[in-house]
Amino acid sequence: MTGSQNATIIGAGVVGMATALTLQRHGWKVTVIDRLPPGEGCSFGNAGGIGVDHAFPVALPGILKRVPRYLLDPLGPLAIRPGHFTKLLPWLLRFLPTGYGRRLEHSIDALGALQHVSYECWKPLLKAAGLEDQVRPGGCINPYESEANLEADLPIWRLLQARGYRSERLGAAELRQLEPALPARYTCAMFEPEFRRVLDPFRIVTGLADAFQQGGGTILRENVSAFEIDADRKIAVRTHRGLRPVDNLIVCAGAVSDRLARLLGNRGVPLEAGRGYHVTLPEPGFELRHVVVAPEHQVAITPMSMGLRFAGTLEFSGADSAPNWARADAILKVAGRVFPGINTQGYTQWSGDRPMMPDSVPVISRSPHFANVYYGFGSGHYGLTQGAVIGRLISELMAGKAPFLDITPYRIDRF
Ligand SMILES: Cc1cc2nc3c(=O)[nH]c(=O)nc-3n(C[C@H](O)[C@H](O)[C@H](O)COP(=O)(O)OP(=O)(O)OC[C@H]3O[C@@H](n4cnc5c(N)ncnc54)[C@H](O)[C@@H]3O)c2cc1C
Repeated sequence: MTGSQNATIIGAGVVGMATALTLQRHGWKVTVIDRLPPGEGCSFGNAGGIGVDHAFPVALPGILKRVPRYLLDPLGPLAIRPGHFTKLLPWLLRFLPTGYGRRLEHSIDALGALQHVSYECWKPLLKAAGLEDQVRPGGCINPYESEANLEADLPIWRLLQARGYRSERLGAAELRQLEPALPARYTCAMFEPEFRRVLDPFRIVTGLADAFQQGGGTILRENVSAFEIDADRKIAVRTHRGLRPVDNLIVCAGAVSDRLARLLGNRGVPLEAGRGYHVTLPEPGFELRHVVVAPEHQVAITPMSMGLRFAGTLEFSGADSAPNWARADAILKVAGRVFPGINTQGYTQWSGDRPMMPDSVPVISRSPHFANVYYGFGSGHYGLTQGAVIGRLISELMAGKAPFLDITPYRIDRF
């Protein structure tokens, strides 16, 4: 800690705003800088799941086996744009081995430690922002079309259960009773009772931002392009409006955080933009009671305030590339396959870039180069879940306290 109680955060996504409100509640005077209004990056359109106990890294043996098939299908759940392949290769070479053995267990442990406490960490922030009614309990159903497919995924469910992360196997009758809207061809499921959902992920970020501003926090709509570091190692942030000297700096800039980290001396942080898409159907024609994650389609289906959202797919095309809306159209087709006869009229589409580390473990870290620079990014598929935990850990680091979790696995220089 520098002695000053001033902090500047780059990024007004769910991670940046959760961190801003947490610091403010601990007495810091906080400024948030973002080129977009709060919540208009990746945090806008996610699947809305607070994945308590849902500690699945992206690299899993089952998924890795399917990779060649996915790659041959440009509209499948996983795609690499040909022009991006060479740039992605070093990241892929780190990603692929994390799906096996000790490395897989390491990712599950590091991820699970955050997921397990995620809702507990959200509670005080949701209360402070008057957002408690925006989060619903109920759990998450992972339905399968055959026992054989569920059995194939069972080793990973068992790894999670062995760590105390709750899930239960459901047969056809229990599944029907719990979620009558699911078609009968789903004959079994894994159910995660602690999983929660939000009614609108964007509303969560704008709600945090409102509470933060009401508490005296400042949000600046500016683009950060560089840092200037003087002879005394004092940092100033260069934005398109000028130079802003900072006392403490926290980088929560989502899928392009590596670019800012590089300017601050952390070269080669393996962060990639893992693009996802959603389709939201305002009047699907039936009601779903739970979040449904259909492993066979790699899509999450969430009842929200504005309709039924289908979110998923993972596309590596680089953070600066244009969306490929054919991939969102493919999600619409999946919606029709999962729920034949679903009403798609009036649907909306969106795409956003997940900030992805190869081991599916975020960066929550003090800079090895500056005592007053901190990082919170790389939550990949779980930034909504992890926002409040990351905020809490960073605020503890900044206060000079021992963090409530061991943060060694989240170091920025672990690769
Ligand atoms: C389809 C899909 C479904 C998902 N479902 C879930 C889910 O169910 N549960 C879950 O937990 N997570 C989910 N996620 C992941 C989650 O949405 C992300 O992990 C999370 O939004 C990342 O938040 P963030 O604050 O790190 O990044 P962002 O929300 O992207 O915020 C980063 C901000 O930094 C700003 N920024 C970057 N660079 C600069 C700069 N130079 N100057 C100024 N501002 C800058 C950007 O404008 C942006 O607003 C999903 C993601 C996708 C795509």
